[in-house]
Amino acid sequence: MPIDPTLPYDDTNIFARILRAEIPCRKVYEDDHALAFHDINPQAPVHILVIPKGAYVSWDDFSAKASDAEIAGFIRAVGHVAREAGVAATGYRLMANMGGHGHQEVAHLHVHIFGGRQFREMIPREAVSS
Ligand code: 5GP
Repeated sequence: MPIDPTLPYDDTNIFARILRAEIPCRKVYEDDHALAFHDINPQAPVHILVIPKGAYVSWDDFSAKASDAEIAGFIRAVGHVAREAGVAATGYRLMANMGGHGHQEVAHLHVHIFGGRQFREMIPREAVSS
């Protein structure tokens, strides 16, 4: 069920609980601005989620309200994690689902890193006209 991105940040969301170490994750990287861990339901040989440490609901919330240092730190972390995962040479796909049409399910900003296999077109072409 997609989230409503207009609601305020709710710190009971699953990624907030992972950040507080209340529930486990398979961590791959952490620094002052970001935490990265393996997706629990991987869609590719490499499927890592990178989240900012700040309380941001979505890409929209983060891009509007985060500081320059938070944004730079988060973007650099995504690139670093992809390189460390060994997918920079072969290529990878980033995805940040946002809100209802984006089918975002967890109300804490996360960027998916998908890699380790060849992907097809970004969105099925028949979906464009509907
Ligand atoms: P969204 O559709 O919001 O972009 O994707 C949410 C992602 O979070 C999904 O790929 C889902 O598998 C992942 N996910 C949901 N709950 C957990 C969890 O408890 N741990 C981990 N590691 N991933 C989760």
